[in-house]
Amino acid sequence: MTSKVIIDYKVSQCTGCRLCMLACAWTGSKTHRLSDSAICIEVDEKLFRRSMILDAERCTGCLACVSICPGEALVKRDGETKGAGA
Ligand code: SF4
Ligand code: SF4
Repeated sequence: MTSKVIIDYKVSQCTGCRLCMLACAWTGSKTHRLSDSAICIEVDEKLFRRSMILDAERCTGCLACVSICPGEALVKRDGETKGAGA
């Protein structure tokens, strides 16, 4: 399945807690394995750099990651959707 939503990532508001990854894995696979998450937050502890990668093929658009993010670093982009295969 290809995600039909676009999720913006505000790196300056991301703490690197990875709750979004846990929520995604639990919602999609009923596991707490981060590898089961369609969203990946990479954290470089030494440089304190964070980045987000979203696997559009695995993302269902459920927005569990957006809902749980404590820093509001993940935001559904208003009015924009992607068609299947986009
Ligand atoms: S839940 Fe939000 S603050 Fe935590 S890692 Fe994910 S994007 Fe960053
Ligand atoms: S919208 Fe749902 S499926 Fe997509 S990354 Fe977020 S929690 Fe995972």
